[in-house]
Amino acid sequence: MNTTTESKTTTFLNYINGEWVASDTGQTEVSKNPAIKGEVVGSYQLSSSNDFNDAATSARIAQKAWRKLAGSVRGDYLLKAASILEERIDDIAATMTREMGKTFAEAKGETARGVAILRYYAGEGMRSIGDVIPSTDSEALLFTTRVPVGVVGVITPWNFPVAIPLWKMAPALIYGNTVVIKPASETAITCAKVINCLHDAGFPAGVINMVTGSGAKIGTEMVNHRVIDAITFTGSNTVGKQLAHSAVTRGIKYQLEMGGKNPVIVASDADLDLAVDATISGGLKSTGQKCTATSRVIVQKEVYDKFKEKLLEKVAEITVGDGLESGTWMGPCASEGQLNTVLSYIEKGKEEGATLLFGGNRVLENKGYYVEPTVFESTSPDLTIVREEIFGPVLALLKVDTLVEALEMANDSEYGLSASIFTTNIGNMLSFINEMDAGLVRINAESAGVELQAPFGGMKQSSSHSREQGRAAIEFFTSIKTVFIK
Ligand code: NAD
Repeated sequence: MNTTTESKTTTFLNYINGEWVASDTGQTEVSKNPAIKGEVVGSYQLSSSNDFNDAATSARIAQKAWRKLAGSVRGDYLLKAASILEERIDDIAATMTREMGKTFAEAKGETARGVAILRYYAGEGMRSIGDVIPSTDSEALLFTTRVPVGVVGVITPWNFPVAIPLWKMAPALIYGNTVVIKPASETAITCAKVINCLHDAGFPAGVINMVTGSGAKIGTEMVNHRVIDAITFTGSNTVGKQLAHSAVTRGIKYQLEMGGKNPVIVASDADLDLAVDATISGGLKSTGQKCTATSRVIVQKEVYDKFKEKLLEKVAEITVGDGLESGTWMGPCASEGQLNTVLSYIEKGKEEGATLLFGGNRVLENKGYYVEPTVFESTSPDLTIVREEIFGPVLALLKVDTLVEALEMANDSEYGLSASIFTTNIGNMLSFINEMDAGLVRINAESAGVELQAPFGGMKQSSSHSREQGRAAIEFFTSIKTVFIK
């Protein structure tokens, strides 16, 4: 791959106009392994406004020819990229584990998802778009078609460093847009390796560009740059809201996927073993660092004690360690900053009167940024740990008398991304489907789980209006044109 070797670490370059180039700042930053303190995975460019301008300009120029290609031809590039990514799955998954800590098995699953996303969108290039509309003029043809938005700015987080960039870039590309991506710094190397797959697939120069560096600098540059026609962002609420403000001011399209505080309801008639397994998997896999991770567990009083006992028994079996080691179930937090945030929420939980049932401590302190899986019991739905997104392996159990109360509590959040219920009663299922304010509503399944061909996104402060993934992606990445031919 196109890198330079410097001070024992590999330095990854920006990807602009089909070439790997160093930033004109001459500055780099290291990406570190959270599982092994002091281990550097590689370095990435700390880019400048000029670098971003070069990338955006090349994307604008390339878009003129790219948009004219048939969808099936654009799809061929995606298929080629999918095969290359598949060949490199072990290396890319291991890089992901080393950069952000999720276990190798999860990282491999995510990379395989990336392959499937590319193949899915390759097929979208062959799908019919638009409608023929009966005109009141019998000598006219009235129909709609769709055109690309133009140059799309892509800003992504570190928690799904292969899947999220691809589920944004693949639909952008198939519908005739070109892209400039600014990946999260924590996982810049993983993203560079994904971009290298696209490079080796032979995409024309300028169609895909990657510029790494400070989110505040390059992200702000991106949303305000005259060449950028749309911004698709996944990350925190704070940053998302800032970007939305700038995008509205410039009058460009924007798409935001942000946080969650996802509830699970366990009804008195639930299959408790299923509910326990799904709560653990949904809440603690990836060290709880998923936007759809379970964080509030609302249990009906009749089964509360039994559920709690079974849950704690299984949480105690979780092995914490380096995600590249085969016995590890849960890796470290993604960074020292992330670990400190999680620990400060745990302290807040204790201070505000929640009962700590399990965990709560930093572990393997000499090795990396690890924390125990943590379970609290809260008598109040108003504690900080019950209201704010922690983005770590922390569950809060809450007891309720009735399902009506459970639903009210589940909805009492500024977020509305994903929500699950465990019940065997069809009436309970239907009430949940109708009344739960969440973009993803899941029955007898963990809150974290997304199929790539279905629309993804949330309500309230979790997302903006347009959905990602599947057929829904066309809404954001294209504009409708109404055509009248006389
Ligand atoms: P973050 O908001 O800190 O960073 C996300 C991206 O924005 C990064 O690339 C970052 O460099 C960039 N950025 C930072 N400051 C910026 C600025 N001022 N202007 C423009 N860009 C800027 O989020 P994170 O810590 O990387 O990820 C965790 C968050 O992402 C959590 O809140 C999580 O819920 C959310 N998330 C949501 C989804 C979803 O689909 N809803 C999926 C994954 C993660």
